[in-house]
Amino acid sequence: MVRGETFPVFQPWKEGKSVLLAKNTWPEIKQRIERGLETVLIPLGSTEQHGPILPLDNDIFNAVQICIRAAMKSEKALVAPPLCYGVSGHHMDFPGTISITPRTFIECLKQIAISLHKHGIKNVLFVTCHGGNLTAMKTAVWELRQEYPNLLCAAIHPYVFSASYMDKVRESEPGGLGSDRVAHTCETETSVALYLRPEEVRKQHIIKEISPLAKGKYTKSDPLIPGVSIYFGLRTSEVSATGVMGDPTKATAEKGEKIVEHIVNGLVDLIDSLSEIRSKIFKRGPNFSV
Ligand SMILES: [Zn+2]
Repeated sequence: MVRGETFPVFQPWKEGKSVLLAKNTWPEIKQRIERGLETVLIPLGSTEQHGPILPLDNDIFNAVQICIRAAMKSEKALVAPPLCYGVSGHHMDFPGTISITPRTFIECLKQIAISLHKHGIKNVLFVTCHGGNLTAMKTAVWELRQEYPNLLCAAIHPYVFSASYMDKVRESEPGGLGSDRVAHTCETETSVALYLRPEEVRKQHIIKEISPLAKGKYTKSDPLIPGVSIYFGLRTSEVSATGVMGDPTKATAEKGEKIVEHIVNGLVDLIDSLSEIRSKIFKRGPNFSV
């Protein structure tokens, strides 16, 4: 049983210490920073519709799970409390969705990162499983970089780490996955849910819905479709009646386990690479004489 093998080792505590930032006391955090802690992961939500199949907390649940597993494995990072809301205005036609504006989201991210940086944290990784947050996350990272040159931030959509795996195993037809090989309640997301918490997947409602626009040469994002992706900012209800975008009938827990494994390993490697990235970035500067 997949969960039985996975969850006994899934404890955010190790040797009396927790990778959850908020489970520490301030002297414990102070000591960790003095002993070399540089990196904090921040799981970023959404609370948004995922069709009739997955709960509204799908994206933040996955982000938290992934961040904790990566922090446990790397032993070089803590996980900050998650932000359960994100930029989900395009899903607002579906009941239960809660959205905040990009500007509010950006300011939240900046204030969280600045707080951590004031205590000596050097690297802040924003991790979201909701692609709709990415543009605002990149703006937050950009604005932080202008003001805090010793703070290294990153906007991460962790499915980038499982994209090459999905290229090998995907069964969805062209148009069924998007860039980074994830769409919405698709083969990828539903596989992850079947692995992480199968009891919350409404299996009786698993249906495929692929919009004709997802196959359009200018409106596609799936690399299997020829053409180029042009951003039109369409609302979900303009491309999907159910809120599903993709083919969750092809989802399996086994694929989900591999996707999570690729993502966690990718995040751990990224955490391990941060000091090298910092050393290459901060030594550079204008250097030319006439
Ligand atoms: Zn999602």
